[in-house]
Amino acid sequence: MKIKDILASGRPTVSFEIFPPRKDAPFEPVREAVTQLAQQRPAFMSVTYGASGNAQANTVQIASFVQACGVPALAHLTCLTATRGSIAGEVDALHKAGIENVLCLRGDLPKDVSGPTGGDFAHAVDLVRALRPAGFCLGGACYPECHPECDHMEDDIIHLRDKVAAGLDFVTTQMFFDNNIFYRYLSKLRDRGVTVPVIAGIMPVTNGRQIARICRISGTYLPSRFKAIVDRYGDRPAAMLDAGVAYATEQIVDLFANGINAVHIYTMNRAEVAGRIMANLRNIVGG
Ligand code: FAD
Repeated sequence: MKIKDILASGRPTVSFEIFPPRKDAPFEPVREAVTQLAQQRPAFMSVTYGASGNAQANTVQIASFVQACGVPALAHLTCLTATRGSIAGEVDALHKAGIENVLCLRGDLPKDVSGPTGGDFAHAVDLVRALRPAGFCLGGACYPECHPECDHMEDDIIHLRDKVAAGLDFVTTQMFFDNNIFYRYLSKLRDRGVTVPVIAGIMPVTNGRQIARICRISGTYLPSRFKAIVDRYGDRPAAMLDAGVAYATEQIVDLFANGINAVHIYTMNRAEVAGRIMANLRNIVGG
């Protein structure tokens, strides 16, 4: 099923992100996580590509497994080091696996590479143009706190508008911990003519130290009430889990209450965390 049709229903939806096994790592733990996550009946599940050392071919395999569990899959695809030929191969593999949805991303340079990539694509917009004729439902990434490489939010939004105009059906945000940042961003997008559905990306934080590092890299703002939680519970994993689930739940309830109907949870493959959040939302998403 195409994600644009799921979003068009106008009902509150929750979807999940998972990452496939790293190179040479076993599939079984990821398959187990997918099986458990699928039982939460997410609207769809997205599968990352090449991020954090994932083997790229594993994305299609896991996306295929997601669909075998009865959940529509969204396969991520990055282009920074890709050639037209390698993308044609990816398109073929996605079609063969029956994947209908692709998240078009530029990706980041691998740590051991600097300078020219030898690839045919400079930005995600180029990938969108290449994939449009292939008939997929296409999504892209957007950044409520501006992409870290872009000096001005206005420029970043113009680039996003071009990317959408090239053929995106929806966009998904980078994580944010302050909903007001998201609401202001959404209003700017609408003012600048970006009209496609915007899926709000929510990261449940269950590891205080890890999130401080991620936020430093991505430039994500940590509100003081969030910092207080990490300061108080960061060294107590069970308490941090309770607090992280509560914080993410509160963010999602507020988003739904304010008319945002699509939320994407960065699950980090932790079915227990996603399950606890979904249990909190039982009568909100289902009702
Ligand atoms: P782009 O849209 O190309 O934007 C990148 C930068 O270039 C921005 O600063 C933009 O303003 C600028 N730009 C765009 N077009 C132009 C132009 N024409 N001229 C000048 N500047 C321009 N990474 C992975 O490796 N694998 C994943 O699976 C993955 N999944 C993600 C999922 C989500 C929801 C998000 C938000 C990010 C994900 N990422 C993933 C990270 C992403 O690859 C990085 O953030 C990357 O740095 C930018 O990717 P993009 O697709 O947003 O790039």
